[in-house]
Amino acid sequence: MHLQTPHGLLGGLIITAATMFPSIAVAGAAQIDVAGFDLADVRLLDSPFRQASERNAQYLLKLEPDRLLHNTRKYAGLEPKGALYGGWESQGIAGHTLGHYLTALSQQFAASGDKRFRKRIDYIVTEMAEAQRAYGDGYVGALPPLELETLRALKDGRVAPENPFFFEGGAWVPWYTQHKILTGLRDAWVLGGNAQAKEVALTLADWSDEITVGLSEGQVQTMLQVEHGGMSEVLIDLYARTGNERYREASLRFHHHAVLEPLRAGRDELPGKHANTQIPKITGAARSYEVLGEPGDRALAEGFWQRVVGRHSWVIGGNSDGEHFFSPETASSHLSAATAESCNTYNMLKLTGHLFAWQPRVEYADYYERALYNHILASQEPEQGMFTYFMSLKPGHFRTYSTPSDSFWCCVGSGMENHTKYGEAIYFHRADELFVNLFVPSVLTWKAKNFVLEQRSDYPYGNQIELTVKSSTARPVTLRVRSPQWAAGPITFRLNGRPLAVDGDPGSYASIERRWRKGDRLVVTIPMALRTEALRGAPEQIAFLYGPVVLAGDLGAVPRTATFPYARDQGDNFEAGSADVPTLLVDPATIAESLRRVPGDRLAFLAEGMGTEGQENVTLRPFPELHYRHYNVYWTLTPPSR
Ligand SMILES: [Zn+2]
Repeated sequence: MHLQTPHGLLGGLIITAATMFPSIAVAGAAQIDVAGFDLADVRLLDSPFRQASERNAQYLLKLEPDRLLHNTRKYAGLEPKGALYGGWESQGIAGHTLGHYLTALSQQFAASGDKRFRKRIDYIVTEMAEAQRAYGDGYVGALPPLELETLRALKDGRVAPENPFFFEGGAWVPWYTQHKILTGLRDAWVLGGNAQAKEVALTLADWSDEITVGLSEGQVQTMLQVEHGGMSEVLIDLYARTGNERYREASLRFHHHAVLEPLRAGRDELPGKHANTQIPKITGAARSYEVLGEPGDRALAEGFWQRVVGRHSWVIGGNSDGEHFFSPETASSHLSAATAESCNTYNMLKLTGHLFAWQPRVEYADYYERALYNHILASQEPEQGMFTYFMSLKPGHFRTYSTPSDSFWCCVGSGMENHTKYGEAIYFHRADELFVNLFVPSVLTWKAKNFVLEQRSDYPYGNQIELTVKSSTARPVTLRVRSPQWAAGPITFRLNGRPLAVDGDPGSYASIERRWRKGDRLVVTIPMALRTEALRGAPEQIAFLYGPVVLAGDLGAVPRTATFPYARDQGDNFEAGSADVPTLLVDPATIAESLRRVPGDRLAFLAEGMGTEGQENVTLRPFPELHYRHYNVYWTLTPPSR
């Protein structure tokens, strides 16, 4: 396992030796089973993931730091150097993008080593340090006056929430926004290697403590009624990195008992609650477990994960309708245009990373993979790298994407991070074991073992993965290859052309211990077959899957309009027309065998003659590919009348 990250001065440069990825961080008291690799140790090879990462990198470079810093300077009394961006950046939540942007730049720099990103980090941190001095009390961010004054008033004991998103007077989630700023600065320090970011971050953390330390327990819990992001998570992480007790105390202050206690007691009180408000509270408890070792926090995080993944998630791995959890048995009445907010899945993947580090279970990795392909990858628009807010599951509907400079929704912020960290969960390690967890083309350099592994495949279009050892020492390394629970049979292996007898039952990790030699080539074959999953509470409504991907019906092109594909408002296309969706006249028991793969197509299945009149034939394609198309995920099946 990684211990607390050592940061040292070397040749006058701050380096981040053995920097751990913050979402799969492992410092402190708890027993951690497996560790992830630094983003720098994993280079993506060509695949849809690398293409998404490159597209996103271009967008990061197109954004102008001076525009994101507009409010930061303005409200510190300094002259802005760029015009304010539109959308949410010109509203009360302004500044959340600046924080996400710092994290995205830091991850992109860590993953690529590209100095253009480091230059931006350095510039922004310098600007923020100047603004922090001008603000005078330790604060830094980009909050408009109402939001900033609402936080500053906490120091005088003024705590007045109006509803889950606003304080009285209309201040919009100021702690949520500050959590992004603080996390961005932490990442600029830890991943970006910027020493000044450490000072700015810790000064801001001190301020966050200072304005809340005088509140009574009751006042604090009242304050926490308003969405506050992952404040507990970033503060406990700062405690782990600095040992400063003040951050431990401040982190525990942000534990929201009204939500955490029912979960601790094993009760599912999630229906009706705003999903993305809650998930970061659990990630905070998870990080807290790692740092402080309180077993109750672990049980809480594991129980929450089981509930959300097992009961509250759509087939694509996302959750929620209109941003809220609902009673799982009513899922079929929630197939709306506002399903599956992408921030939720961004946060669920963070949580999954923690759980996997504690206990490397196939179940966790399978969920990570499902959500990664069908929600995260699918959320990026292929022309300009824009972002979905909701992933509409309304029958026959389509995806709506952000504009480059006039949306800046929460999901744009978390979205720009998503595509900078595809390397975070492909490989894990413990002792002499290397987990090959995701089948994403990449090269891993396991520095401590002098072991370099190259992974190539066109998965999930094909079902073979080639693992080639590029460098190895004489010491044995055990490869542990995930055999997904959904596999249609045991995964099989050929080593240097010869079959290898290894147990590869679905839902397990196959183990291959060997003194690997340079040039060793292991080919993994994962049996795939079409399968279905029913919607909870509605067994006659099913979705199709093939390997890790959901297959959705391709129902034709969506015409371009003023709000399609790019919309300023996330709700702009809620009322836009959907394509007609046929009922499939097939017996649910035999449907998977009734569909045939379309010859000559990379991955498509045809439901031939099965649709209701006028739409007899339906083509199913991988859900991540269905950009600018009307699509359908859940189908109503009716056995044909005889
Ligand atoms: Zn969001």
